Amino acid sequence: MAASQDFYELLGVSKTATQEEIKKAYRKLAHKHHPDKKGGDEEQFKKINQAYEVLSDTQKRAQYDQFGEAGTNAGAGYQGDPFGGFGGFNQGGFTINMDDLGGFGDIFDMFSGGGRGRSSRRNRGSDVETDIEISFRESAKGLTKKIQHRIFTTCSKCHGNGAEPGTPIETCETCNGQGAVTSRHQTPFGVFNQQTVCPDCKGEGKKAKTACTQCHGEGREKTDRLLTVEIPAGIADGQSIRLTGKGEAPKTGGQPGDMYVHVHVMSDKVLVRDRDNVRSTVAISFADAALGCSVDIDTLAGDKELKIPAGTQPNKEFALPGLGFPHLQSSGAGDHVVTIQVEIPKRLSKKQKDILEEFRKAPKKGMFF
Ligand SMILES: [Zn+2]
Ligand SMILES: [Zn+2]
Repeated sequence: MAASQDFYELLGVSKTATQEEIKKAYRKLAHKHHPDKKGGDEEQFKKINQAYEVLSDTQKRAQYDQFGEAGTNAGAGYQGDPFGGFGGFNQGGFTINMDDLGGFGDIFDMFSGGGRGRSSRRNRGSDVETDIEISFRESAKGLTKKIQHRIFTTCSKCHGNGAEPGTPIETCETCNGQGAVTSRHQTPFGVFNQQTVCPDCKGEGKKAKTACTQCHGEGREKTDRLLTVEIPAGIADGQSIRLTGKGEAPKTGGQPGDMYVHVHVMSDKVLVRDRDNVRSTVAISFADAALGCSVDIDTLAGDKELKIPAGTQPNKEFALPGLGFPHLQSSGAGDHVVTIQVEIPKRLSKKQKDILEEFRKAPKKGMFF
């Protein structure tokens, strides 16, 4: 076995990375290597989960920094997958924190597939993914998006079993209906039995006698589909929505995979997101700052009046409560925080100059306190 790779290297973060950076790097990699995904890499996926388990835990991380991998328990519980080569995926031995994978249940519960039994995984369609772009203000309100795409769906004639309607489905002779075949391997350490998915029935244990004429026994067909995606209010750039069962239908029965919709939020000309708060800057003249004024603030909920008191200093922040993004995990919403920018005139008329000269000559005592 090769020497284990440095956990920081695995996640592509520096030794001084913050928890937030580690979490971000992990999410990105976990998604990239997820074994259910086309091009996913189960080995790599296990490794990054192991690294994340340690680095996301301050105590374990400190032990790791001091003693290396030996200082942690990570990896000790790895179990081989009895269905090796099956694409089966064993989560034993490490913890996957679902909260860390998006922070909210339905939107990115990538690993809630824990409940999916191994048997249903035998013949599960591929996951698919798509990217959508929404505006900043749409992300605050939430919206419904339609996605038009061409995808394998369960055959409408045979409902996925691959048999011409009215014809029987027979037990697979290759595996006697077991769905798996066992092969013996002689090695220097003894004889091992290895179980693999039946190549004939693809693990189903049964086969159509007469193939369905619509899908030629595949149990699926390419369809143009219009998919409706509900994007919840408050979704942030880079978060994904998982649509269970909306991925590709597999050959001859089984469950379709899932669909991941990656949401990209465009930036806004005025507003910036800061966690669930919204930030913006408003420029006022130094006279308005000194005398006080009232300004219209462009918020997620339209223009709102903000009263700026006399004597307001540059960079002073004012909060408009509840006008930020809705919290995804609890009720309520963040605030809209306005930062005041005070502008100094670059050109003055003769009259303005005279007034300011007058001001300059006036006694300053008590003016700035
Ligand atoms: Zn069919
Ligand atoms: Zn079989």
